[in-house]
Amino acid sequence: MYVKSLLAAARDIRVEQAEMPGEIAPDHVRLRLATASICGTDMHYFRHFANAGFFLDNPVTLGHEACAYVEDANGHGFRPGQLVAINPVIECGACAKCRAGDINMCATKRFPGSATTKPHIDGFFRERFDFPARCCHAVPASVDPDHLTFAEPLACAMHVVNRAGVSRGDRVLVTGCGPMGLLATIGAAAKGAEVAVTDLKPAAIDAARAVGASAGYVTGEERPESAAYDMVIEASGSPHAYNQALDAVRYQGTIGVLSLIQPSDVPINLHLNALKEVHSVGSILFTREFADAVALIAGGEVDFEAITAARFAVAETQAACELMADGRAVGKVLIKPD
Ligand SMILES: [Zn+2]
Ligand SMILES: [Zn+2]
Repeated sequence: MYVKSLLAAARDIRVEQAEMPGEIAPDHVRLRLATASICGTDMHYFRHFANAGFFLDNPVTLGHEACAYVEDANGHGFRPGQLVAINPVIECGACAKCRAGDINMCATKRFPGSATTKPHIDGFFRERFDFPARCCHAVPASVDPDHLTFAEPLACAMHVVNRAGVSRGDRVLVTGCGPMGLLATIGAAAKGAEVAVTDLKPAAIDAARAVGASAGYVTGEERPESAAYDMVIEASGSPHAYNQALDAVRYQGTIGVLSLIQPSDVPINLHLNALKEVHSVGSILFTREFADAVALIAGGEVDFEAITAARFAVAETQAACELMADGRAVGKVLIKPD
């Protein structure tokens, strides 16, 4: 028996005792949760039972960011008790995009805790689960699982940093210091860029400074210099921040869009796109950056504690999601076994 959380309806997470199936699928390993973390995507499902127009068909366990201990390697070469990072993208491996390495573009990829995968696959906010062995990456025993759970969102952040072409010495502005903006700050700083950030909350800017930002601007009180940044990474999800990005990016600079800006009536100053010859690149999930993120975490140089807001047990997943939903927490909320 193990503890499993289940989103039954909007804002309604049930906790139940569940039984593991007797058989493990041949390509899967059996895992015991070490640490999971809540993503903005999970929050959309928590609030609306839907995300970006995709509705859940039935109750589902949320969570796609986690690391775990191997309980039964099922013949796949892991040691029992070994800590593994979990890449939640289950790509088909056979289509043209997969063969080119662009697993994020695979049209038939499957993803846990998501309405886009039908039938849905339960996610990681539960104490035990089976997952494909090829998605599990062994790490040294010295790695802290509360850091390793950042592998998936950090990979997403490193992907936009790569898509925007950030390199040593570049001036980068990150708009929004939610978890994704903080991780983009880490990714850009790791490339040797000089990083400035914006946010509504001074505490979020302090967190960004702790992980590599050298300047911060409180939105509404001060503003970053116009036409001064080689790249702007938009991580807030606000159309106003996209306008700020168009203002702050230098002529012929690049805006990397990490957030899912929701449809709105706010006018976007697209004339600046033309006048400044701005490059705008979208970004979703990651490709090779998952391995890069695991390596950066294993290196132990980044202070992930500075961007961790709170820890909850699996049985407290409802309270953990409520804390995230109220918007005051700075950094990630973690979910741990009871
Ligand atoms: Zn996520
Ligand atoms: Zn594919």
